[in-house]
Amino acid sequence: MSLEGRRVLFISYNGMLQPLGQTQVLTYLRELAKRGVKFTLLSFERDNAFTPAGARECATLKDELQRQGIEWHWLRYHQRPSLPATLFDVVRGIRVASRLVRKNEIELVHAEEILPAYVIYDLAHGRNVATIREWLREQRIWTAGRFGEWQYLNMDHSMASGKAAAEAILADVSA
Ligand SMILES: Cc1cc2nc3c(=O)[nH]c(=O)nc-3n(C[C@H](O)[C@H](O)[C@H](O)COP(=O)(O)OP(=O)(O)OC[C@H]3O[C@@H](n4cnc5c(N)ncnc54)[C@H](O)[C@@H]3O)c2cc1C
Repeated sequence: MSLEGRRVLFISYNGMLQPLGQTQVLTYLRELAKRGVKFTLLSFERDNAFTPAGARECATLKDELQRQGIEWHWLRYHQRPSLPATLFDVVRGIRVASRLVRKNEIELVHAEEILPAYVIYDLAHGRNVATIREWLREQRIWTAGRFGEWQYLNMDHSMASGKAAAEAILADVSA
């Protein structure tokens, strides 16, 4: 199926000013837009987007996305009180999304919320992490830090882990 000209509404409950939105949403949308997908993006921005500095950041990002073929709209995310706040966001999101579907003649709607993964130890933790890291090492990929080692590291250990990885890479390169 050709992607060229497909009109997609992407709804993200993560904000585009957040690292998760920037790395896990925009990166992919930009690449797909290059291949011809016409994206309308609706996101839920955190409070920082509604400060004067945040509003400037949003305006700059909106222009940049527009040039890349992505039409961006955003609503304010509400966190508390938990259930009513989410219900409010959902109802408001549906209203705005329906309007965008009609206006941009959307063919496909994709909605997602990315929950950041967190290191949790289960009984197979050691074995599973070792398997993945051995495989990565065979591909000559070094991982470091809390998520790279998948260990509940604090800042000092994360930095030591990064330093050890840098030394291992240097040793490998000069071997
Ligand atoms: C609430 C909280 C309190 C803490 N308090 C302390 C404390 O008091 N003292 C202490 O020593 N430690 C503390 N820590 C732990 C400390 O924050 C971590 O140990 C440390 O930040 C881990 O560093 P890192 O570089 O491994 O990972 P991170 O700091 O998490 O960096 C990973 C980076 O990778 C980015 N990323 C993820 N996926 C992608 C992708 N696909 N593409 C591009 N970028 C990506 C992320 O956005 C992030 O910027 C705390 C952690 C939390 C969550």
